[in-house]
Amino acid sequence: MEEKLMNKRVIIIGAGIAGLSAGCYLQMNGYRTEIFEMHSLPGGLCTSWKRNGYIFNGSIHWLVGTCKNMNMHKIWEELNAIDDAKIVNHDEFFRIEFEEGEFFRGYTDANKLEEEMLRVAPEDEETIKEFINAVKEFAKYDFPVDRAPELYGILDGIKFLFKYRRILKLFRRWKKISIENYSRKFRNRNMKKIFYHMLGLDSRISMAILLMTLAWMHRKCAGYPHGGSLEFARAIERKYISLGGRIHYNSKVSKIIVENNRAVGVKVADGSTYKGDIIISAADGHYTVFDLLDGKYIDEKIRDRYQNWDLFTSLCQISIGVKRSFDNYPHAMSLSLKKPLKIDPKNEVDSMCVIIYNFDHSLAPAGKTPVVVLLPADYEYWNALREDDKKKYDNAKKTLADEVVKILDDKIGNLSDKIEVLDVATPVTYFRYTNNWKGSFEGWLPTPKIFGKRMEKTLPGLDNFYMVGQWVEIGGGLPTVALSGRNLAQIICKRDGKKFRTD
Ligand SMILES: Cc1cc2nc3c(=O)[nH]c(=O)nc-3n(C[C@H](O)[C@H](O)[C@H](O)COP(=O)(O)OP(=O)(O)OC[C@H]3O[C@@H](n4cnc5c(N)ncnc54)[C@H](O)[C@@H]3O)c2cc1C
Repeated sequence: MEEKLMNKRVIIIGAGIAGLSAGCYLQMNGYRTEIFEMHSLPGGLCTSWKRNGYIFNGSIHWLVGTCKNMNMHKIWEELNAIDDAKIVNHDEFFRIEFEEGEFFRGYTDANKLEEEMLRVAPEDEETIKEFINAVKEFAKYDFPVDRAPELYGILDGIKFLFKYRRILKLFRRWKKISIENYSRKFRNRNMKKIFYHMLGLDSRISMAILLMTLAWMHRKCAGYPHGGSLEFARAIERKYISLGGRIHYNSKVSKIIVENNRAVGVKVADGSTYKGDIIISAADGHYTVFDLLDGKYIDEKIRDRYQNWDLFTSLCQISIGVKRSFDNYPHAMSLSLKKPLKIDPKNEVDSMCVIIYNFDHSLAPAGKTPVVVLLPADYEYWNALREDDKKKYDNAKKTLADEVVKILDDKIGNLSDKIEVLDVATPVTYFRYTNNWKGSFEGWLPTPKIFGKRMEKTLPGLDNFYMVGQWVEIGGGLPTVALSGRNLAQIICKRDGKKFRTD
């Protein structure tokens, strides 16, 4: 029996963090896995890119689980993903310009954050205290990560509900309100604006997300791993390979081979086919369901998601290599704009999110700094532009980048004549490099309507097939997708009667 299980072959589509995590844990449990990745690199959305000596970080701003006293830390340890000595915990997560030259300091320490909020909006004391108390309450708890929720029996469920009753009550209370709705409680006009831009999050998101993130920051459990996103993904790739896993790069899967409603293999874009006992898609959800499987294995619930659920809006990332240091500047700012900046017909902003990578000197030679601006952007517009006329698309990118540089020069100064790299990623770039539907950077938006729902990792009517990653875990994010891969490995072990191991 053990011999047979040792030989079980698992094919994983996608070497993002979910695919790598599933691969690592299955290897730890004696499965022979192979990952097929369309790109030449691991990480998927969790990536960085190098231009003229500058490394531009494309994902991690905060990574939940970077402190030892949090359950998630164990998962990062199992995956050899982080080096505790190289975690940067910021004193301020964000500095928000709420009026020309007037800044709000978004402290990670909840007590300092409260003081700062009261300084700006003393008339909102009651709401501020309610909010900060909620941050501190969330900071007292940790969610269990050890066992896949799918494996809980009735008794486990009852025990869980009892043990976590307080945090579940807190969660249910705050989950129902969006950031946008909560910001209306503030009487102070500036506080409304500050709150709206608090973590640069989409204001349609549930308040529970904002509170939990601030709680983890308060505990110093949501730091930044020095080296950035690709370095982080590379560390997990190394772990996977050391466990005997194999990755086929530049291998886009074009079909999942199905026989008698059982997934039995994959076809790669070059026409080659590979057989497996279990097939896992850790790739984009829409592409998996509607292209790789031709939309044959769906029900009303799945159709409804793809028709009606909100997605994380895609982005334009303007990456700027600047030949100067920014030693005494805040690392992340929301800058208030004198006139709105139009990104595309659907997106216009009156503030701009800027990240100055003065806290990670591994990303540029001494005396030089990567500066990144993130703007919401519409996939349909940028895609149509690129398909219609590549020259127009390139010009639109250049126009946007020039406007951004002008704003930075005006706001920060001493910048435009020191630019060595100007690189623009649009929603089409996210799509081309990761295949994510509409260029979404975190999948399903955790609005009050859907946050907290559990999604199935299987498709109706299809055997031997599973999905992991941000399209089956509402809200996405690195801890969630790494856990998604781990949980699936547990489910598969249970199905095969194996004790799950992590060594
Ligand atoms: C700008 C930005 C900021 C972010 N900030 C944070 C943050 O601070 N903290 C945090 O936790 N998360 C953050 N995230 C989100 C996080 O990066 C993602 O949620 C996570 O990386 C998704 O992982 P995944 O493995 O589920 O999917 P993906 O990363 O999309 O991986 C899927 C993989 O499948 C491959 N693939 C797709 N189709 C095929 C195919 N047909 N054949 C073969 N391979 C295929 C893709 O190339 C990709 O490598 C951020 C993301 C972005 C873009």
